[in-house]
Amino acid sequence: MSDSAGIGSGSANPVRDRNAARGARLLIVGPPGSGKGTQAVALSKRFGVPDISTGDIFRHHITEETPLGLQVKAIVSAGDYVPDELTNAIVTERLSEADARNGFLLDGYPRTLEQVGYLDRLLDERSQPLEAVVRLLADQDEIVARLTKRAHEQGRADDTEEAIRHRQEVYLRETAPLIDVYRERGLLVEIDGLGDVEEIADRIREALAARGIGEIDELAAS
Ligand code: ADP
Repeated sequence: MSDSAGIGSGSANPVRDRNAARGARLLIVGPPGSGKGTQAVALSKRFGVPDISTGDIFRHHITEETPLGLQVKAIVSAGDYVPDELTNAIVTERLSEADARNGFLLDGYPRTLEQVGYLDRLLDERSQPLEAVVRLLADQDEIVARLTKRAHEQGRADDTEEAIRHRQEVYLRETAPLIDVYRERGLLVEIDGLGDVEEIADRIREALAARGIGEIDELAAS
């Protein structure tokens, strides 16, 4: 490996620094209630790459009442998809920022096959292909039970078991074609998403390391 960043720099954690310098280009996907957000934060820290959530970006614009926010407010509150053109544009803009130069973790994007194609072209232009798509798997009944309990505890009467189950089904139906594309490309890394946060983070780390993404030296040394 010719990458010398972090080596001999006197850093407290050269492995981590080198990974941060190297970056990683990842997607994370998982159903509502799978703890995807938590794992996204942990992964982005580990690789020193920004966690880019299109949902968060839209919510931020809505809160700030920017022109884009005003444009997408009704769509997002209805739970519909923002048009691909707008979504692709915000991702292009975000990925062009300095902190995303060496890598990124995309969360909530791509969500349609059109977005998959757009992202392919964008990354192609940068000669930065995706390295892995981390998919959190979780048992439907377990997730429904978990979310129903939470809704009950928080007094969210509208969040019935039926509504929760419906959202899970919609999610599965809509992501299936994307998952197939990435599986065919050999990029899919499927992780058992049940267990405690640290346990799941370890599984993700090991699965990525097995593909040569991150922590290579630590594995070699063990
Ligand atoms: P969820 O609420 O299901 O976790 P997100 O937080 O990822 O979803 O996104 C919230 C909303 O933002 C979505 O319901 C949708 O309106 C919009 N959105 C986010 N990502 C995309 C995308 N890739 N394409 C279209 N719309 C999106």
